[in-house]
Amino acid sequence: MDVCHKCGNPQIIIKRKQSGQMLCQECFIKSIQEKVLKDIRKQNLVSKGDKVLVALSGGKDSVMLLDILNNLRKRRIIDLVAVTIDEGICGYREDGVNIAAQNTELLGVKHRIVSFKDYVDHTLDEIMADTGDRNACTYCGVFRRWILNQVAKEEGASRIATGHNLDDEAQSILMNYLEGNIQNLTRIGVRSESSYEGFTVKIKPLREIPEKETALYVVARDLPVHLAGCPYAGDSFRAKVRDFLKEISLDHPTIMYSTLRGFDKIKPVLKREFSKKSPMGICEDCGEPSASKICKACSFRRSWD
Ligand SMILES: [Zn+2]
Ligand SMILES: [Zn+2]
Repeated sequence: MDVCHKCGNPQIIIKRKQSGQMLCQECFIKSIQEKVLKDIRKQNLVSKGDKVLVALSGGKDSVMLLDILNNLRKRRIIDLVAVTIDEGICGYREDGVNIAAQNTELLGVKHRIVSFKDYVDHTLDEIMADTGDRNACTYCGVFRRWILNQVAKEEGASRIATGHNLDDEAQSILMNYLEGNIQNLTRIGVRSESSYEGFTVKIKPLREIPEKETALYVVARDLPVHLAGCPYAGDSFRAKVRDFLKEISLDHPTIMYSTLRGFDKIKPVLKREFSKKSPMGICEDCGEPSASKICKACSFRRSWD
């Protein structure tokens, strides 16, 4: 009979394909929390006294991230503020914002809701209706990063934590290999680094947790999550790479871990050989680090004036 490998409980909720380990609900929750907190320690993702801004969309990954980081807040190691970005996607974002608010209320964590409308004067729906030349994800990604950096400064946050999981990271690595974007590869990792002083370090504490387990975690913890997919997501290159990795994982359950491990080993060499040698400048409009005079977010904003 299948029983929990930790406590012998016959009610198991997971059999890990990669290791064969079986766990009950309680032991699964514990194993995930211990793994993430251990990774945070091992990789030095936070220090005592850090104020961590959690990018909270209301989806399973960010909800799980907030729940686990709250352990460090309760132990007074870090301070937390959750930020939800309202892109202005009609019929989609409202639910995510409400669910994010439920989670922060549940945990007693400070919550800020900031909108594209307030920060860049246009909702994503308006941008898509007005332009239509680029896909929504380009604008959305650029502005979300830009707004998070602004809010981190306003809040005096020393870290920005995002809910990227193992699948997300393996996808990013593979996508950049396939497209030959070696420059982009040098920027992938568990924490972002920059010598520029106005730069807030970004961390990905869930980088080693498979997506399947983030989904199971929120169910096991009975946390409210926003499950709907973004209406703009569509049939992107990322979606194709995701499907390919999922399919190949059926026969090779550790393939995403090996993608990550292999990449982390060659990354120092990539950085040495391919990192931009020219020093990073500062955007003339907003003061964020930028490779050109005007950063991408500001050049988009200028094109509307
Ligand atoms: Zn157990
Ligand atoms: Zn700028």
